[in-house]
Amino acid sequence: MNLKNEAFEQIILSLHPSSLNLILFPTEHCNFRCTYCYEDYKIGRMMPEVVSGIKNLLHHRYKTLKLLEISWFGGEPLLAKDVIFEISETILSLQEQNPDLNYAANITTNGYFLTKQVAEELINYGISSYQISLDGDRQLHDTTRVLSNGKGSFDVIMSNLLALKQIQAEFTVLIRIHYQKSTFVELKSLIDTLNDNFGGDLRFQFYFKSVDKLGGENDEDIEALSPIEKAEIEAYLKNFVADSRQVYSMSNQYICYASKPNSLAIRANGRIAKCTVALDDERNDIGYIQEDGKLCLFQEKLKPWIRGLESLDLKTLACPWESLNHNKKIGSSK
Ligand code: SF4
Repeated sequence: MNLKNEAFEQIILSLHPSSLNLILFPTEHCNFRCTYCYEDYKIGRMMPEVVSGIKNLLHHRYKTLKLLEISWFGGEPLLAKDVIFEISETILSLQEQNPDLNYAANITTNGYFLTKQVAEELINYGISSYQISLDGDRQLHDTTRVLSNGKGSFDVIMSNLLALKQIQAEFTVLIRIHYQKSTFVELKSLIDTLNDNFGGDLRFQFYFKSVDKLGGENDEDIEALSPIEKAEIEAYLKNFVADSRQVYSMSNQYICYASKPNSLAIRANGRIAKCTVALDDERNDIGYIQEDGKLCLFQEKLKPWIRGLESLDLKTLACPWESLNHNKKIGSSK
């Protein structure tokens, strides 16, 4: 497939020093133990010197930045929302000093702590885009997205989603509906519930995503699906969405942040990664941030991640990790 203008624009932006994307892990702990999760939760809260390092980095860069995108990731990022608020506070004050700075922020959360009050606080800090996963109706979801104490999480997430609907502000919630070969036929009842409660509210978008083998210890319990099977299942599921404007589809020109030179993931311990899935892979440990905000990057380790910019091969650009790792069948992140 040839690259279209949209992909070229992303590539140009990804090389421009006035643009920066940081994926931040305020904690790598999680209150969930999803049965297919690939993370090992070994690293806890972001260390204070890392928080200072990020704030100092932003102080060094803000005058020349035109575009700053912050993606909050984890673990469950809302377990350390004070870290999120502290760094966001700095960003808002820097933005006041540089009105040319466009700032956008999003968060990938399991939704358990995303109450109306927390969402309103996040929106005030400019974090207005949320990605939350559901695996089915209550019965199905609660067999896979379980809390660390073994209890289900569906009721709390759904009540939080319903409360979000009451907020009179601009935000988007991407509800990621996970399917597996063994579960997809049971997803209609969840889609019916979503239609009933969120149908027509375009702030809520529905994205169908397969559960893939991502290299964690739960991989052997996951049944791999071929690209054709995925396409068929997704077409089947999309049919049940009442308002087609709420179906979110990934662009076939998608370029992963890991392929972009000015996109860096800063982990809770200050190590820098490109990919948010291959967290245990030594090739993905490409440097670290110092307390003074200096980024120490190992250029030789960075190169393989951004090699798609030379070949312009869309498959490599879409997931540089997959082609680095032929032997494992993996898929895209969270
Ligand atoms: S697994 Fe692939 S698509 Fe997902 S973050 Fe890593 S490189 Fe990007």
